[in-house]
This record gives sequence, structure tokens and C-alpha cells, in this order.
Amino acid sequence: MKKPPQVVVIGSLNMDIVVEAKRPPLMGETVHGNQVHFIPGGKGANQAVASARLGAKTTMIGAVGADAFGTELLQALKQEGIDVEAVKTEADSHTGVASIVLSQGDNQIIVVAGANGQVTPADINTHVDKIKQSDVVLLQLEIPLETVIYAATKAKELGKTVVLNPAPARELPDELLSQVDVLIPNESELYLLAQADAKIELADAMHAMLQKGVSTVVTTLGSKGAAYLTAKGEQGLVASHRVQVVDTTGAGDSFNAGFSYALAGGAAVEEAVAFATKVAALAVTKLGAQAGMPTLAQVEEFIA
Ligand code: ADP
Repeated sequence: MKKPPQVVVIGSLNMDIVVEAKRPPLMGETVHGNQVHFIPGGKGANQAVASARLGAKTTMIGAVGADAFGTELLQALKQEGIDVEAVKTEADSHTGVASIVLSQGDNQIIVVAGANGQVTPADINTHVDKIKQSDVVLLQLEIPLETVIYAATKAKELGKTVVLNPAPARELPDELLSQVDVLIPNESELYLLAQADAKIELADAMHAMLQKGVSTVVTTLGSKGAAYLTAKGEQGLVASHRVQVVDTTGAGDSFNAGFSYALAGGAAVEEAVAFATKVAALAVTKLGAQAGMPTLAQVEEFIA
């Protein structure tokens, strides 16, 4: 039997504390909420769960605090069959938390990085064997930038394929972009990276990324689909599938994991974009980021 694709995700783990209230409090005010939910999240962990559900041998490198949330998040990843040996427990920190107030159909979010902010280049060196065993190294921007740059550089040195989801949006140095094989921004992340206003054409903003040393750019466009452009000159747009949307949280995460899984298995760029588009379409039909990630069987059964 062919060996499963191997994906290493280097990134964040968060507990999302979601509080529902009729209206958000004003500054200095207390309001009563209706409900609270504790939902495992963090872009790194979401992408690791999606990758594992698809059947990739998935390893996570990251950090949690020495607290109950940390234990719970690690347990959730283990249950998905994810290798968490390289997720350290930081005694001096707390698990990353996203505090989310949901009211009147909108939300207010405060993210506290906690242990995610303590994932260091030294951690990458400690777990370099995990990278050596992988096909694809998948990164986002919820851990220190210094570590993302170090990890990408190390992975390239080892001949691995580096996929970067540049989220949350921020400007990035060419030192990092030049190490990236596949950059997967959404539209606003792309325009920020291209340092261009939305008046420039999408294709021009994507070309700007190639000029910074990225080999392939895939821009996710929400319900409109995803556009791709490679240094070899391949380009195209894969339309989204029409589905009953329930919750788009984690759409980008499922897409990134789907793409990385397909690429690690040897797919060409267009094929990987088409596969990721199916994975993301299924993910948005379910509530919750990690809970909504589909299995390979569900993706294969999905008729667009
Ligand atoms: P992000 O969540 O990072 O902002 P997008 O909104 O661009 O990312 O969504 C990522 C991918 O998820 C899209 O390229 C598409 O494949 C899928 N997707 C998002 N929204 C929808 C939708 N309403 N219907 C179908 N697919 C969707």
C-alpha cells in the first residue's frame, strides 16, 4: 500500500471561549450572557485536525500552557491520531485563548497568544527529525515570525515543500517569502502582502508575490473560489461548490490542509486546488472549525 502523505504543521493551539449575549457590554459595564462554549481552535491545530481527518500522517509542533485547557487541546489532537510529541507544555505560560463575544449576529474577539508566543527556533531544532520525515511543512502566522522564518528556512534546507498560510494578515519580509513554495492567502491578506490597494488586479497582486520569491500563489476568494498562479506560468480559477453554508469559521484552515494533503500525496497544483475546494466546501456546511473538518471518504463521496 502507498504510504500516507506526511504533513508537519507548525503553529498555534487555542481554546476559543465563545460567550453569547443579547448585546455586547459597553466599556465598564457588566451584562449577562446566555451561553458559553469552549471550542478547540488556533489556526495550527485546526489545520492539523483537517490534515489528519483526510488521512495524512500529521505531526504538530507548537506549545500549550501547563493548565486544563492545554491538557484538553492535546487530548483532542491525540484523538484525531495526530502526533503531539513536539507540542511542548510551557510551565511559565498559559494556553492560548481567543475570547469571543457573539451578539446581534456579530462578534468581538480578543486573542491572547500565551504559550503560542513561546514557540522558538530552538524548538524547531529539537524536532528537526519530524520535519525530515515529512513531505510538506505547513505554517501560519500565530507563532513568532522569527520561528516561522527559521522553520521555513530549515525545511527548505532539508528539501521539504513549504506551504505558508499568511494569516492573520501582516506584512512579511522577502527573507520569508523567498523560502515559500506555496503561499495561500485570502484576498485581504494578499493585498496587504502586495502592499497594494484593492484597485490593482488580483493577477497583478499575485504576480507581485512571485517576484518576492514565492513559487506558487493560491488566493482563496470565499464563495467565489480560489485562483492560482505558478512561477512556471500555470494559472487558473477553481470555482467554489454551491453548498448550504452553516459556519465559515475554519474555511481557510480546511482549504490549506486539503491543499497540503493533496500536494504531499503528489498532486499537481490545479488538482490540489480542486481537492482543497471540496474539503473547504464540506467544512463550511458544518458548525465549528475542527468539528466540521471532513474525512477523506466524505470528500471522495462529495459530488459537486
Ligand atoms: P478565509 O476563511 O481564510 O478568509 P476564504 O473565505 O477565502 O478564506 O475561504 C477559503 C475557501 O473556503 C474558499 O476558497 C472556498 O473554497 C471555501 N469557501 C469559503 N466560503 C465558501 C462558501 N460560502 N461556499 C463554498 N465554499 C466556500
